[in-house]
Amino acid sequence: MGNTAIVLAGGSGSRMKSTVKKQYLLIAGIPVLGYSLAVFQKSIHINDIILVCGKGEEDQCRTEIVEKCGFSKVKKIVEGGKERYHSVYEGLKAAENCDYVLIHDGARPFIDEAMIGRIMEELPQCRACVVAVPVKDTIKLSSSDGYVARTLPREQLWSVQTPQAFDYNLIRRAYDQLADCEPEDIRITDDAMVAEHFAGVPVKLIEGSYDNIKITTPEDLLLADMIQKKHSVDRN
Ligand code: C5P
Repeated sequence: MGNTAIVLAGGSGSRMKSTVKKQYLLIAGIPVLGYSLAVFQKSIHINDIILVCGKGEEDQCRTEIVEKCGFSKVKKIVEGGKERYHSVYEGLKAAENCDYVLIHDGARPFIDEAMIGRIMEELPQCRACVVAVPVKDTIKLSSSDGYVARTLPREQLWSVQTPQAFDYNLIRRAYDQLADCEPEDIRITDDAMVAEHFAGVPVKLIEGSYDNIKITTPEDLLLADMIQKKHSVDRN
């Protein structure tokens, strides 16, 4: 039994407006996806990794990233699905002998061992947790005609990141239920939503990091270059 990281790289990355998918774009010569895989590979908490990639990308991921970088903990490379939650489900179905699972966006390169440690410390008690940071901006709900409907209380708002971590059986059952009903009225944008909705468990917020950005649009890549430089200065 052990702890599995599911790393998602099955998205099309249309908001990046690039011919190369965002998870394969380079930061300091290394693919975005390679950064988080390297952290899980080195982590004392992680036994194995399942990589979820886009249709027809398995061989490229295996040769260009997994084998080239020596990511020996990557035990399976599976094909994702149409939406992020379909890709997560493929990853969950591929997991074997798993106590706890950490689900991570491959488009978030800047996770670290301390963050994984904080997750693993809480997980046995709470069974469901996500890393997050307090929002810095004031967040408003809009009405359908583009006016402010309501201002939300900033002190209660968190920007949720990944890894999102769960007791394996709990999240697997929740995803099985999601697969049975394929809801059309809610847009599933993270795994905590699935746990909240189908497992009914409280999801604990764990301290994340403002560096743990998701590469989504071209300006994120500029920011990622700066964060990478800062990290390499910190290391030296
Ligand atoms: O689209 P979004 O920014 O929410 O994607 C978050 C992560 O989920 C990315 O790493 C992306 O590659 C992955 N994803 C996936 N399968 C999809 C959509 C997104 O693995 N169908």
